[in-house]
Amino acid sequence: MDINSSVSCLGGVGKKRGELYNKLKIFTLEDLIYYFPRRYDDYSCPVPIGEAQINEHAVISAVITQKLPAARIRQGLVLYKIVAADQRDNITITYYNNRYIYDRLIVGQEYLFEGRVTGGFTRKEMNSPSVLPADTKELFRPVYHLTEGLTANMVTQNMETALKVVGDDFPDHLPDDIRREYSLPALNYALHNIHFPESDHGMEIARRRLAFDELLTLQLGMKLLKSRNRKSTGYIMKDTDLSEFFSALPFELTGAQKRACEDIAADMRRDYPMNRLIQGDVGSGKTAVAAAACYMAVKNHTQAALMAPTEILAKQHYDTLSGFLEPLGIRVACLTGSLPPKQKNELKERLKNGDIDVVTGTHALISRSTEFQSLSLVITDEQHRFGVNQRKAFAEKGESPHKLVMSATPIPRTLALIIYGDLDISVLNELPKGRQPVETYAVTGKLRERALGYVKKQLDDGRQGYIVCPLVEDSEVSEVMAATSYKNELERGIFADYNIGLLHGQMNSAEKERVMQLFKDNEIQLLVCTTVVEVGVDVPNATIMLVENSDRFGLSQLHQLRGRVGRGKYKSSCILVTDNPTEETRERLKIMASTNDGFKISEEDLKMRGAGDFFGERQHGLPPLKIADIASDRELLSQAQKAADTLIARSPDLSAYPMLKEKTEKMFAENAEDTMN
Ligand code: ADP
Ligand code: MG
Repeated sequence: MDINSSVSCLGGVGKKRGELYNKLKIFTLEDLIYYFPRRYDDYSCPVPIGEAQINEHAVISAVITQKLPAARIRQGLVLYKIVAADQRDNITITYYNNRYIYDRLIVGQEYLFEGRVTGGFTRKEMNSPSVLPADTKELFRPVYHLTEGLTANMVTQNMETALKVVGDDFPDHLPDDIRREYSLPALNYALHNIHFPESDHGMEIARRRLAFDELLTLQLGMKLLKSRNRKSTGYIMKDTDLSEFFSALPFELTGAQKRACEDIAADMRRDYPMNRLIQGDVGSGKTAVAAAACYMAVKNHTQAALMAPTEILAKQHYDTLSGFLEPLGIRVACLTGSLPPKQKNELKERLKNGDIDVVTGTHALISRSTEFQSLSLVITDEQHRFGVNQRKAFAEKGESPHKLVMSATPIPRTLALIIYGDLDISVLNELPKGRQPVETYAVTGKLRERALGYVKKQLDDGRQGYIVCPLVEDSEVSEVMAATSYKNELERGIFADYNIGLLHGQMNSAEKERVMQLFKDNEIQLLVCTTVVEVGVDVPNATIMLVENSDRFGLSQLHQLRGRVGRGKYKSSCILVTDNPTEETRERLKIMASTNDGFKISEEDLKMRGAGDFFGERQHGLPPLKIADIASDRELLSQAQKAADTLIARSPDLSAYPMLKEKTEKMFAENAEDTMN
């Protein structure tokens, strides 16, 4: 047997249990051994039953005094109750349908039980605790994520067998010198100790080794992807002089914008495609940078296209780009699904003939009937809103075109390197001159009336505003109801003279766009919304935002929301209301009030919430990490980054390290189709 043998072939597993393992995505012995414990139970310090806290996990040591007869409660539910006691107290222990354990427990014997304590003050209970004989030697036991039919004891036993069979000569993919340089234990030591730690120290270094492996593999995968994307492009830009473009702009670019333009020019001069991310806070002027890239494409007799997730954004980009580019004789158009068929066909005809130089648009850009004469540059705004296939289809409208991605989500640099590891990054960390920071105030519910009065005053001055509604926890339906009744209340109150719009997650995109358009046109002065306010929508006349329940939002999310205001020449403010003024809330909201720097805020957010919450679901397309935590393993992460650089420098395609290469390819083949394009 080796690490690739099927898990069903392992002694004690068999076909049926093998299928249960398959449910957990465990197919081979390697998969099994890499199924790490969620946590460990420490049986070494049991507490007296009398001291075990209700609703907390505890380990108790008790002698079984009585086994009650099995009780069939209903079809398919049998209760097995046991009474156990220590010197002073009794506890009732119940197993559901688990005759196997019940039969094995012997009256008069002492056991260790681990589980959540329930019941009342007079009679404590435990439901389905883990159990070990009291004389067990291994008092530190792994706890695995299980599936129905597969018990902790089964996994533990199978793991022991698997480690015996293959664990001792599990091939180590990490070169010895790297292992020594970063003080990492051998792989088989780590694998044994992650499941059955010899000591706290053993567990700690095992975890460190395995987390390092994971982070290293991730980095290597990204680097391989990056070099693999280097197909040659037919669109080598010979003329990357931007001076004419710069002098036609109505403003001076910021230093950060200029640097980004230079990065892009250098990319587009090369013989392989640009693959670059422009990352910058709202208002940092990403579109002007995109315009520079379009200008270069056109100057070299090719076309450029910019795809945005909504019609409003596509039109907004059209306005901005045509403002910059048309004075230079460049022909700009906007292609969206809602164009009348005749116009749409005409536009498509002109794209195909090369009569349009630059086009912005929605998904309509990637429909089959859209063709280009010579598309050398594809730009995606808010890339995470598009699926892999859409992005791929977009790039296939040209022949290995240059790719530019714009994102308004600031992410700390070390993390950006992982998440966008296959992209080069330009950061716009500087706002255009004269932009006034959004004044932010955190207030408690007591000041709500006054805060609303302040919003009203802005409207009286001719401005517009947003109110982000209380979050409702249960269902989306009640979220809609809450938002609707909130709006109705405002309409009856001091805002009676204004038009109030409503935007929530249950509306379809056409409805949302209609409301946003009315808001843009100032037909609506106050927009009551849940968190669906479009990222990137530019309404310079909106100067005030009030956020209810602001304590429920992540800092980065609040920052995104706040970015809807402060986009014009007027002074803007943001009021964060909370009815939950705890110390932690105060701390968090203070950060919001003290800085407008999205990068700083995301750094704080990450520290406070940990990586899982910070990134939310897998929208970033990163392979899921089993053991490393990119928020708390930052030090390890930079070590792994260094090691990856060393290895790639020695062997750019990793052919000198076949095992490491295979491991990397496996991680990416299974998980990261999303990062491929
Ligand atoms: P975002 O990065 O949020 O997409 P935009 O590209 O929409 O920002 O730019 C926001 C506004 O700032 C636009 O109206 C744009 O014309 C303007 N702008 C961009 N760069 C500058 C600059 N260097 N100086 C002054 N205004 C600028
Ligand atoms: Mg934008």
